[in-house]
Amino acid sequence: MNYPNFINSKLPNVGTTIFTIMGKLAADNNAINLSQGFPDFSCNEELIGLVNKYMMTGHNQYAPMEGLMSLRKILAEKTEDIYSAKYDPESEITITSGATQAIFTAITAIVRENDEVIIFEPAYDCYQPAIELNGGKTMYVSLKAPNYSIDWEEVKKMINHRTKMIIINTPHNPTGSIMSSRDMAKLEKLTQGTDIVIISDEVYEHIIFDGYEHQSIARFPKLAERSIIISSFGKTFHATGWKMGYCVAPKKLTAEFRKVHQFLVFSCNTPIQYALADFLKKKDNYLELGNFYQKKRDHFIELIKNSKFQFEPSAGTYFQLLRYKEISKEKDTDFAVRLIKEFGIASIPISVFYHEAVDNHVLRFCFAKREETLEKAAEILNRI
Ligand code: PMP
Ligand code: GLN
Repeated sequence: MNYPNFINSKLPNVGTTIFTIMGKLAADNNAINLSQGFPDFSCNEELIGLVNKYMMTGHNQYAPMEGLMSLRKILAEKTEDIYSAKYDPESEITITSGATQAIFTAITAIVRENDEVIIFEPAYDCYQPAIELNGGKTMYVSLKAPNYSIDWEEVKKMINHRTKMIIINTPHNPTGSIMSSRDMAKLEKLTQGTDIVIISDEVYEHIIFDGYEHQSIARFPKLAERSIIISSFGKTFHATGWKMGYCVAPKKLTAEFRKVHQFLVFSCNTPIQYALADFLKKKDNYLELGNFYQKKRDHFIELIKNSKFQFEPSAGTYFQLLRYKEISKEKDTDFAVRLIKEFGIASIPISVFYHEAVDNHVLRFCFAKREETLEKAAEILNRI
């Protein structure tokens, strides 16, 4: 077919995402796939049974635009329980088709032409395109080696009257770093008296290790009043393919969020919302997640401790970064492709999460995998 030459791309520099590229390369080469972040084990059978039950009993039509009330109620209880923050399920919680949709919706609801949005690099890949599609300007602050912490002095220098939004992400993809209560205090001080809105991407809120507590922005009332918190059931319940998430924000922000949400998707999967409302009643279903993944992280790093890769154990998420300076001087994108083709293991190169492709020779490996997958992966990594 002829390409219509009157199309002027709104995202001229955007290609296919790294997750699609690496996933396909892994499949084509029959490689162990530790690239895209998803579990290779099944989600809870009881949860699947619940979804089935609600489908079979006729809950198959549109859900309310804001989400099922019983689900929003239990999320309000969970947020109060864990973070001591009160949100009204009626006007402050919205169910979304995954976190990606929620992030796009939140950015679209708030960011206007020429507004500046600060994000931290390496950054999850869906923020920048959403900012640019809304005419905003992405402002980048690099996380500081070795533990990918935030340099608040740099953030301070970047804030001006055009700064409309700051997007934070803790636990952080791709680095596995976490923000502390001191970070939150700094953020509070910097945003006080401004009209900056914060998006807090907390999709890994329950995947945090070594006794650390997740510092949800909900815990900090002065920050919470200007923040849109986004989470994902995909991460929490090993069901990334269901694309279900939620957004928690004060009434006025939620009202703006819903104005966009209702025309982007209107409402989300009905039987899954019923099932999640039931499943969330058992708190262990999410409170045990940190231990569950910590065991996987520990198993993985124990297996590769004598390899030539260097690493600091991840503090949260289900990703482990490995540095390969001892092994090769290749670009991380080239090295990642070679690992797939020559060694049969797929990862994600970290330079793709920087707008200027900063390459520190680091790869991201997903350890949300069965023991046997991790063992096979480690056996390969130890040979490299
Ligand atoms: N934010 C981060 C940091 C992520 O890692 C992901 C991927 N799960 C998302 C957002 C998107 O989540 P979802 O799959 O629910 O759209
Ligand atoms: N969040 C997943 C990851 O970081 C990817 C989701 C996607 O493919 N967009 O691997």
